[in-house]
Amino acid sequence: MRTGTVYLVGAGPGDPKLLTVRGQELLRRADVVVYDHLVSPRLLTVCSPHAKLVYVGKEADRHAARQQAINRLLVREARAGRTVVRLKGGDPFVFGRGGEEALALARAKVAYEVVPGVTSAIGVPAYAGIPVTHRKLSSSFAVITGHEDPTKTGSSIRWRQLATSCDTLICLMGVSKLPSIVTRLIRHGRDRSTPCAVIEWGTSPTQRTLTGTLQTIVGLAKRAAIQPPATLVVGNVVALRRQLNWFEARPLFGKRILVTRASDKADTFADQLEALGAEVEQLPAIELGPVRQNGLLREAITGFPRPDWVFFTSPEGIGWFARILRAARQDLRWLSGCHIGAIGSKTAAAIEERGLHVDFVPKQFSQEGILEGFPRRVLRGKRALILCAEESRDVLVQGLRGRGCEVKKLPIYRTLVPRALATGITTLFERPFDYVTVTSASCVEHLYAALKAAASADRFRRLRFASIGPVTSSHVRAHGGRVMVEANPSTIEGLVQAVLKRVK
Ligand code: SAH
Repeated sequence: MRTGTVYLVGAGPGDPKLLTVRGQELLRRADVVVYDHLVSPRLLTVCSPHAKLVYVGKEADRHAARQQAINRLLVREARAGRTVVRLKGGDPFVFGRGGEEALALARAKVAYEVVPGVTSAIGVPAYAGIPVTHRKLSSSFAVITGHEDPTKTGSSIRWRQLATSCDTLICLMGVSKLPSIVTRLIRHGRDRSTPCAVIEWGTSPTQRTLTGTLQTIVGLAKRAAIQPPATLVVGNVVALRRQLNWFEARPLFGKRILVTRASDKADTFADQLEALGAEVEQLPAIELGPVRQNGLLREAITGFPRPDWVFFTSPEGIGWFARILRAARQDLRWLSGCHIGAIGSKTAAAIEERGLHVDFVPKQFSQEGILEGFPRRVLRGKRALILCAEESRDVLVQGLRGRGCEVKKLPIYRTLVPRALATGITTLFERPFDYVTVTSASCVEHLYAALKAAASADRFRRLRFASIGPVTSSHVRAHGGRVMVEANPSTIEGLVQAVLKRVK
């Protein structure tokens, strides 16, 4: 059997998007992933469902025996022919014992590669608006470990030289030893008024930054109860933060927002909120699934005389319709000769992506909007087919019938309650949300039902909802909920803008 390779991969300092392209590619391919405490769990979502994920715990607990066990594990898995990713916080060769792991692999003659990562020593200050060098302020920086007790005799850190010979000092693993580190630097000649920063959970949406001087930083960190992981930066470059604090200044920074739409669609929405600085949690409250009576459905499609107009009421509709046609050994050519209406711009885009032209999109993206915007006389004596969710409202059906149109409503998928909703409700809601976003009536109904089942229906009334439009809002209010934000237009972009406007 061929032996596998061990990849020592840097995961970056926290923000999952700071993983390298090479790192992501290897995570996708890995049979085994051995990861640390400080690695973002989000990174592991790209792993294959068959990959074995092995958590090897906190850096602080890592004594020699545990480290040896990790080394042995890497060797064993590689010898069994597996592709192993050893995923380490920041850069694998900056503290964190990456060098020791590589040596163990080299000794065992196991093939390995190193994939550097963004080290917290540079990445964390960068997210706090602190460049580690600057032409006028600093032309050198040093990265030191604070884990080593600076008062112990035989310390391998030469504090006397270090204190004054480098412009910027960056200290990792230094939270518990902060007082003695600072004392040492001052004693060995670093000016007490040197600017300092301590950054906790840097590059994450909960990043906290304190600034002061060598004189004041210990007291500040104590009062703020700074916890690991945190990075200490000492040097005049810290002063630049006043002008360069880009990350914490983003409009949604510090806001915790829940995204409840179906997970396949959630990404772009979550991405937009995150790009604006929000801490986003995802808890899909709906999931789409096939309707039950597929045989009848096929018959309904093939048996119904070709309609003059076909309406789609969600971006998913066209995909489900194509699936149903396929099952009946047909395809989208079934629509040839029909006019196509879409409830909104995203629905239209999904249809046009498949090479079909959309003839009508209302100004207001709802069933009411279609009725309002559609030329009154066009449908008299004509046939219309509405392809929608099983739970879809009858507003359009009734409205079109009232205009003398022969209407058939055909549910082509249904909304289900995802299994993970019940557990997510109990864990995610332990910390308050600034906004709970709801993007459809079923989202609201499922969320309410799940909270009720968990005996916390009154919590629903305390939530601050951000709703995609009037219909969704009315469902929130029907259960006594508060709508703090309503999108206009009723699109995801509209909702993002509405939240932004509210926080400004
Ligand atoms: N190899 C890692 C460092 C491992 S030592 C790297 O290159 O980043 C772990 C220390 O890194 C922590 O004690 C802390 O000082 C620092 N650190 C890691 N992640 C951090 C974060 N998100 N915010 C602040 N400091 C962090």
